Amino acid sequence: MKLLFEKSIENRRTHYLSACDVPDVELPIKRKTPLGLPQLSETDVTRHYSELESNTFGINDGFYPLGSCTMKYNPKINDKISGLPGFTDIHPLQPQSTVQGLFEALDTAGQYLSEITGMYAMSFQPAAGAHGELASLMMFKKYFEERGETDRVKVIVPDSAHGTNPATVHMCGMKIINLPSNADGCIDLDQLRAVVGPDTAGIMLTNPNTLGIFEEDILEITKIVHNAGGLCYYDGANLNAIAGIMRPGEMGFDCIHLNLHKTFSTPHGGGGPGSGAIGCKEFLYKYLPGPQIVKEGDSYSFKDYEGSIGQILAFYGNTLISLRALAFIMAYGKDGLPIMSKHAVLNANYMKHRLSERFEIFNKGLCMHEFVITMEREAKGSNFTAKDMAKAILDEGMMAPTMYFPLIVKEALMVEPTETEGKETLDRVIDTYISIYDKVMKENTLAGQFPKNTIIGRPDEVGAARNPIVRYSNPNNI
Ligand SMILES: *Cc1c(COP(=O)(O)O)cnc(C)c1O
Repeated sequence: MKLLFEKSIENRRTHYLSACDVPDVELPIKRKTPLGLPQLSETDVTRHYSELESNTFGINDGFYPLGSCTMKYNPKINDKISGLPGFTDIHPLQPQSTVQGLFEALDTAGQYLSEITGMYAMSFQPAAGAHGELASLMMFKKYFEERGETDRVKVIVPDSAHGTNPATVHMCGMKIINLPSNADGCIDLDQLRAVVGPDTAGIMLTNPNTLGIFEEDILEITKIVHNAGGLCYYDGANLNAIAGIMRPGEMGFDCIHLNLHKTFSTPHGGGGPGSGAIGCKEFLYKYLPGPQIVKEGDSYSFKDYEGSIGQILAFYGNTLISLRALAFIMAYGKDGLPIMSKHAVLNANYMKHRLSERFEIFNKGLCMHEFVITMEREAKGSNFTAKDMAKAILDEGMMAPTMYFPLIVKEALMVEPTETEGKETLDRVIDTYISIYDKVMKENTLAGQFPKNTIIGRPDEVGAARNPIVRYSNPNNI
């Protein structure tokens, strides 16, 4: 597909202005070279973006089981509510007294999310999960600095963790302690006991973990870390399995992030916008990023707390995402959220059970909201890899599961169907996976030949990551 710049035709316009009836003025500063913007008609531009749209695949097009990402259907009512003019036609710098409704909505969202997670308060400033992790570890650091415990620089991260966890530790100038999982993919308590000590700042953990397994020893895990003087951080990306049923605060976590764009339904992918809202227990409250929304009497205002790690994003985060989360929570209600999570878990177990007729599944026993297929056996025996399977799935007009994650499972395909898919869809997907499997196992020269029907076949992924071309060089040099 051509770029807009390549489609440009000189002097073509989307509009023609009537002749200027005021004198021309020579600007003191002037570009030396032409701007070189594409010149196109409205029809050209509209068709361009429609073509782009038809070349992409999203949750509204079909099944999208990206494990650890919770690509659920996003109810349109959320968009409608977050798009109300009282939320969108305002300016971040207008007087606080004139945006009391927005403050109240955000404060309510904060209270609901605190209730769901067992936290004391939330901040909506972080723009993504990774950003929430960073803010939280900065809070841990500040907490230890104030206590004079500056030796606490080590953060324990299990080897099944999402890559953002160790990256966050590194960004914070702290030290990563990589904790190997046991054979079941869970935290090994003896190993954990062996690595904690007076230099432990804390642990970062997601529960259920990235294998879709609930860490049953969670109370013991958080106790071991607390007894060593460390803090416990909950990576809330997998909250979809437990929302309304179990609270991270009661598992012993001191601070959490939620990916509002995952669990609480905002279209995501392609880099945003998102919201990595963070929550904490009361003893960490003052360290939250500032400003905080506080209610005094009948009115809300921003307040900066002494001790805060400071502001980490312009103004107050991606508020429209937080409002979508509020709309979502209110639509489900207290009774609906646990049903949402139970359906997510049920769907995953249904798929896991039926797929286990052919595929080897890493999870033994029940899984939570996601499970991991390992194609190690097929890769070794038949040269049929997880990547081949994923590419063949794309050919069938559905998104492939997450590939090669978590890293501790060889030839992994991580499937997260979410609660928003019906049984017919799950059955159709399962039948498709099985038919691909049988076809390739019968004739394994097929394995490397997919996809055949997609716009892009097998791009050079390593090349794209190592030598990305992110800038268009106009051949006409305009
Ligand atoms: C998605 C995810 C993150 C990172 O969240 P972003 O919003 O993408 O920055 C962290 N941990 C886990 C387990 C995740 O799935």
